[in-house]
Amino acid sequence: MKDTLNIARELDRKDPLKDFRQRFYIPDNTIYVDGNSLGLLSEDAEKSLLRVLNEWKTLGIRGWLSAERPWFYFAEHIGEMTAPLVGAAPGELIFSGTTTVNIHSLISSFYQPKGKRTRILADELNFPSDTYALKGQIKQKGLDPDRELLLARSDNGKTLDEDRIVSMMTDEVALIWLPSVLYASGQLLDMEYLTQEAHKRGIPIGFDCSHSAGAIPHHFNRWGVDFATFCSYKYLNGGPGCTAFLYVNEKHFGKEPLMAGWFGYVKEKQFDMSLDFEHAESAGGWQISSPGILGASTMEGSVQLMQDAGIERIRKKSLQLTGFFLELFHGTLDTPPYNFSIATPEDPQRRGGHIALTHPDEALRINEAMKARGIIPDFRAPDTIRIAPVAMYNTFEEVRQVAEVLKEIIDNKEHLRFEKQRKAIS
Ligand SMILES: *Cc1c(COP(=O)(O)O)cnc(C)c1O
Repeated sequence: MKDTLNIARELDRKDPLKDFRQRFYIPDNTIYVDGNSLGLLSEDAEKSLLRVLNEWKTLGIRGWLSAERPWFYFAEHIGEMTAPLVGAAPGELIFSGTTTVNIHSLISSFYQPKGKRTRILADELNFPSDTYALKGQIKQKGLDPDRELLLARSDNGKTLDEDRIVSMMTDEVALIWLPSVLYASGQLLDMEYLTQEAHKRGIPIGFDCSHSAGAIPHHFNRWGVDFATFCSYKYLNGGPGCTAFLYVNEKHFGKEPLMAGWFGYVKEKQFDMSLDFEHAESAGGWQISSPGILGASTMEGSVQLMQDAGIERIRKKSLQLTGFFLELFHGTLDTPPYNFSIATPEDPQRRGGHIALTHPDEALRINEAMKARGIIPDFRAPDTIRIAPVAMYNTFEEVRQVAEVLKEIIDNKEHLRFEKQRKAIS
């Protein structure tokens, strides 16, 4: 891989986003390729957090209306700032809740089983929390998840076939809930196509975009997606457990949010303290509680930074980074004695921001050996190592180093020094 070092350096030199890396805190002596699980802190996010902390210190309750970005409107403002990243029209995006809570809240309103249409169509590869929420919501309607939850199967345990999903969109389906990018394999589903096909059959469709927001452009409004949610601690770099986003298409603004709470009230009248819930006619109507302003505050700096970079440029660089890894991979790491495979579709239109590398029997220990070498990927049972070179802060030289170290670990049998037991978080 020697002469590839010059290629990597040349790619870095020409990278229009290269200066953004300097705004991030990169842990010392670390190549961080786990931004699809927890993104890194930027100086910009830190600055907005410290400002809000100081506002609480100096303003007390007056911060709700007098802070630089008044806390009372913070969720709406951040929603507006973030809207271009996902193609949301005014009022369609709110910065509120957490991913799983938002799924419950959206499904509770959008899932209205009637007559023959009682089923939810989802897939067997989505993040477990999504499936738990769907099952819970079906039970809340007094129905049986074993009957009502249809899971599109995967032939290889890694990827889904959109046409198989479409073939399951029957007149018994009341609602569809799918991921944008599969968290394990990194496959990107064709959201526009799936939305069109769902709507031809009169079925509302929603997406969990936790693994694509901040890595890929979305056009929710143009595609006509009915509803969506995504977390902000992965590619959006909001910090652990940061507030999530909730999207509702404007055609549904009249719909009643059933997990109702006072922050979903028409804003100007919220403090009338009426006992009759009058929801905001926007995604804001889906808010439940007082927003956790401190935890949410990082998002202001973080989203501003991403807007400066531009989501189209972010996607372009992300594909170049993962494409470069695939180039280094083929012909070396897929041959004996290395024996890795790629579970991610290699077609750029079908892959998200990370690459899923599989190894037949040693993925767990190879992942540990990489961490011992200062490289942070992550492991997903049983055989997957996920590598996410993030456009905002990773370099081509780092990608090359990851490929090089993978090779050296096998050459030197470094992984054999580690235990076969998985830790609580891998
Ligand atoms: C990260 C992720 C979640 C996380 O849910 P939380 O409620 O934020 O813990 C849920 N679904 C998907 C698809 C994810 O990628």
